[in-house]
Amino acid sequence: MYEFENCTVRYNVQMKDYTTFKTGGAARVMIEPESPLAVASVLRKLTERGEKYYVLGNGSNLLVSDRGIDCPVIHIGKNLSEIKIDGDRVICQAGALLSSAAYAAYKGSLTGMEFAHGIPGSAGGGVCMNAGAYGGELKDIVDWIDYAAPTGEVYRMDCDTADFGYRKSFFSDKNYVVTAVCFKLREGNGDEILAKMKELGEKRRDKQPLEYPSAGSAFKRPQGYFAAALIEEAGLKGTSVGGAEVSKKHSGFIINKGDATTEDVLSLMEKVKMTVFDHSGVKLEAEVKYWE
Ligand SMILES: Cc1cc2nc3c(=O)[nH]c(=O)nc-3n(C[C@H](O)[C@H](O)[C@H](O)COP(=O)(O)OP(=O)(O)OC[C@H]3O[C@@H](n4cnc5c(N)ncnc54)[C@H](O)[C@@H]3O)c2cc1C
Repeated sequence: MYEFENCTVRYNVQMKDYTTFKTGGAARVMIEPESPLAVASVLRKLTERGEKYYVLGNGSNLLVSDRGIDCPVIHIGKNLSEIKIDGDRVICQAGALLSSAAYAAYKGSLTGMEFAHGIPGSAGGGVCMNAGAYGGELKDIVDWIDYAAPTGEVYRMDCDTADFGYRKSFFSDKNYVVTAVCFKLREGNGDEILAKMKELGEKRRDKQPLEYPSAGSAFKRPQGYFAAALIEEAGLKGTSVGGAEVSKKHSGFIINKGDATTEDVLSLMEKVKMTVFDHSGVKLEAEVKYWE
């Protein structure tokens, strides 16, 4: 049994309900802290007990083993999703969705975050991944980040020290938890901001198979290439394993046609990697994270 103050604790939680791929087994325990201090206290207690843990945001870049996961999952979601506007800054708790933060920016006539409106991640997951689209990346607009360390201490970090790179940051593959993010934007024109968000939304709907569960681009962009083009040139468009398919609409996406397992997705990703390497000599690297 797990008891933590100011947290919701649930057992045997189906991870397919918490990932946009809609696959995966159950998490033995999910802890949902209700404040940054509760996050810090959970980390300290788990660390003292020598327990490894996973940190879940909106689950939009994640594959979870069909066998489920035994170590605790700390979910930074709705319980920590406040958004405040302060002058030219949008200050979000880490569970706030990027779409909501970008919408709040629009409501406050602040420009610079339109690119993030269609990324289905949380502010914390977005910072961890340095999410980006259409020429923008979170690193361009982050001012500071609050986070908790495994020891239970809390810190504030400036953008410059966050070690941002392509789809990575200081927080990638570490056991720190982002609790809040401040985005620094510029004053803009509400109509223009809304028009930009709509234009980018249409581009996404045109090009991406948003009608199917997925985790967006399955692979990182290899230097000097586009993963989708390499996959298409290797003749893999529409290739499937079980219920997982290389999208016919966008070859960079692997989609769940309805009954895919995580194993199907992993096998298909392996097949894509091998075929692309045979065809072009380029090694694809997964963008999606895998938990087992
Ligand atoms: C349809 C679709 C389109 C997408 N388009 C884009 C796109 O245009 N650009 C792009 O970059 N990505 C895109 N993605 C991928 C995904 O939305 C991003 O990677 C997003 O940043 C993941 O955020 P999340 O909250 O869902 O993180 P999760 O999937 O929950 O987690 C991802 C990683 O972040 C870590 N993490 C999550 N929250 C925290 C936290 N609070 N503190 C520390 N670590 C944390 C996790 O441990 C994990 O390692 C897309 C996905 C989908 C499904």
